[in-house]
Amino acid sequence: MSTAPDPRERELHILAVRQHRHRAPLRRPFVTAARRTEAVEYVVAEVELAGGIVGQGSAAETVAVTGESADSIAEALSGPLRQALEGARGTVAELSARIAGALEGGTSARAACDVALHDAWARAAGSPLVELLGGRADDGLMNDMTVSLEEPEVMAERARAAVAGGEEILKIKLGHDIDEDRRRLAAVIAAAPSARLRLDANQGWSPEQAIDIITGFEIDALPIDLVEQPVAAANVEGMARVAAAVELPIMADESVWSVEDAHRLVEAGAADLLNIKLAKTGGIPQALAIADVAQAAGIECMIGAMMEPRISITAAAHVAIAHPAITMIDLDPPFWFASDSPPGGFTQSGGWLRLTGGPGLGLQRLRADEDGGDT
Ligand SMILES: [Mg+2]
Repeated sequence: MSTAPDPRERELHILAVRQHRHRAPLRRPFVTAARRTEAVEYVVAEVELAGGIVGQGSAAETVAVTGESADSIAEALSGPLRQALEGARGTVAELSARIAGALEGGTSARAACDVALHDAWARAAGSPLVELLGGRADDGLMNDMTVSLEEPEVMAERARAAVAGGEEILKIKLGHDIDEDRRRLAAVIAAAPSARLRLDANQGWSPEQAIDIITGFEIDALPIDLVEQPVAAANVEGMARVAAAVELPIMADESVWSVEDAHRLVEAGAADLLNIKLAKTGGIPQALAIADVAQAAGIECMIGAMMEPRISITAAAHVAIAHPAITMIDLDPPFWFASDSPPGGFTQSGGWLRLTGGPGLGLQRLRADEDGGDT
């Protein structure tokens, strides 16, 4: 009787770390309380193993959120991350730890490199990444569609169109001004009364404003599932005050980047739910570790993303489907891109996202001259 070798014990040998840059226009501007984006500058990281297997990850410029520009992401990949990995040998966990220790900050650059490593590892094992992380490739999760922060009538029309297109869950961007926010939400609900809503204030309210507006939504019994990051990221005490004062679940996003943040929020009673993003955690093991903290505390998680390309979103979907505490996804960015490439990874129908299977992330390799890449 023979036992199949455990892919987690397999020694990998990294030959090269490379990158290429892309600029992909969006179908329409993406607007939140923090920023406005019309085209996404992103960097694809490639990790090549001995034997020629190449994995890919990606990171988008999000100066307003992670502080990283396309230039800083490219510099991190060609500098400290390349130095930490090229020629290195080890298990996937050992190599991932090298990525985590290669630089301070630079979380989306590290995430791109770590996803490329995990894609290459799973390709070498001939398995979908989700299965190597403990999940099932044929599982799926219900996705949502974001409605940008705009004038109420514009948001209402976007919400109506999304529901007509089969979406059941809408993520509504608020956080600009609470009186306008009330008008925005009323317009959205009038236009899309069947939708379940996730509200995201992107830190735009004070604790007092948050308690005021959320309590009003509760009195009106609006179809809201959760309220994300009502107050400033660093105001853990304020988050706790809001969470204690309202019935609706409060989700932390900008407040949770690390396992330490997750512990702090849980201990303060500052979040009922956590939103995990690879571009914040800097890699896959750290994202799963946050989900472990949440699971131990009886807290459910969502996986979200920045306005990132399909490679990043597919990686996030594998991680989400792999962990039992991750029950929600907010992974609509591919539908914002004018050209969504490379092919593969996942499909979506009626809001339901499923992985395609296939080794690694299940994506075709994105070439340097595709999707707005410079040659
Ligand atoms: Mg958010």
